Amino acid sequence: MHLSERGLNPPVSGIRAMFELAREYDNVINLCIGEPGFPTPPNVIGAGRDALYKGYTKYTPNAGIPGLREALSQKLLRENKIQADPETEIIVTAGGVEAVLLAMMVTVNPGDEVLVPIPSWPNYPEQIKFVGGTMVPVPAYEKDGFVPTKENIEERITEKTKVLVLNSPNNPTGGVISRGEMEEICKLVRKHDLTIISDEPYERLLYDGAEHVSPASLPDMKEHVITVNTFSKTFAMSGWRVGYASGPKQAIGAMVQIIEQVTSSVNAAAQYACIEALNHTEKAIQKMVKGYQRNRDILVEGLNGCKNVSCRCPLGAFYAFPNIQDTGLTSAQLAADIVKEVQVVTTPGPAFGIYGEGYLRLSYASSETEIREAVKRLQQYFNR
Ligand code: PLP
Repeated sequence: MHLSERGLNPPVSGIRAMFELAREYDNVINLCIGEPGFPTPPNVIGAGRDALYKGYTKYTPNAGIPGLREALSQKLLRENKIQADPETEIIVTAGGVEAVLLAMMVTVNPGDEVLVPIPSWPNYPEQIKFVGGTMVPVPAYEKDGFVPTKENIEERITEKTKVLVLNSPNNPTGGVISRGEMEEICKLVRKHDLTIISDEPYERLLYDGAEHVSPASLPDMKEHVITVNTFSKTFAMSGWRVGYASGPKQAIGAMVQIIEQVTSSVNAAAQYACIEALNHTEKAIQKMVKGYQRNRDILVEGLNGCKNVSCRCPLGAFYAFPNIQDTGLTSAQLAADIVKEVQVVTTPGPAFGIYGEGYLRLSYASSETEIREAVKRLQQYFNR
């Protein structure tokens, strides 16, 4: 078969490579996975099941069922201080990943530059390639709390810059952009008339009093931001594949037209389950966040007890991003050696872009027992 350029060179995931390596060993602890170890709350599962028995087994409107868009509109106002009309300014998507891609499709022309703070979720650069844009990495250094400074952003703005991707709390670093930092970034965005794609899947996973600030909630920003989110993380619903986006009417309207050609609306029963998730899971969320915080404390303290490793305490998400530069090994060499010696799977930092060299990502979304065992093995490895 004759394949296209894309067919011949499909994206490769640095995370999957570690999975493959780990398959060769028994008794592996996998800290590569970026998904909640908790089950979906039972009332949400019940709502999905009831929806199926009620006969919600057919196509839904491309933008999502009206009840879910209404519940999302209320959630956005209540939790994010964003006003979004459920009829015209909200779209339900197949996970956050589709929402980010659609957002890029309606904002980036071939040749446009897209600023991405690095380290970042590896899908942004690949999706930017899909739409023919050029990714411009902006360093988000450890010394700055893994948050891009306004100077580092502004230095990279050219006439071709159209979009800035923000992801706070951040995957893979756990960095959180403070209100003051977000205000400064938004000033730049207005000054240069850019668009922010604000990807906020970890908005509820915050620790030590950190605050989540949606850029679309700041003055004069609504026209500059497409806010993207997902049910995967907060509600432990990664397999249900539901995400959403809100933003200016014209952008969301275009996304609704495009989704028809891609997935033609999201699984109907899953959308009903999501209404339940938005309205009746507060206690379950708080319990999960407490669990993540406990795991974070165990893991970060454990990592800081390892020779040649230092780990900032992340303020959000469920990832630790320790600095391993003093080991004298590259991230990939070290990650491979750790799997070989103590069977703990981590992700080498460069899977998240050029500024990730010298770091590893460890997810602490799994169980406390696994995290404790991982710490024991890591200390055995580093302190031998
Ligand atoms: N954005 C970030 C930063 C993520 O880490 C993820 C998942 O890992 C997503 C978006 C997409 O999640 P999903 O497609 O499951 O909604």
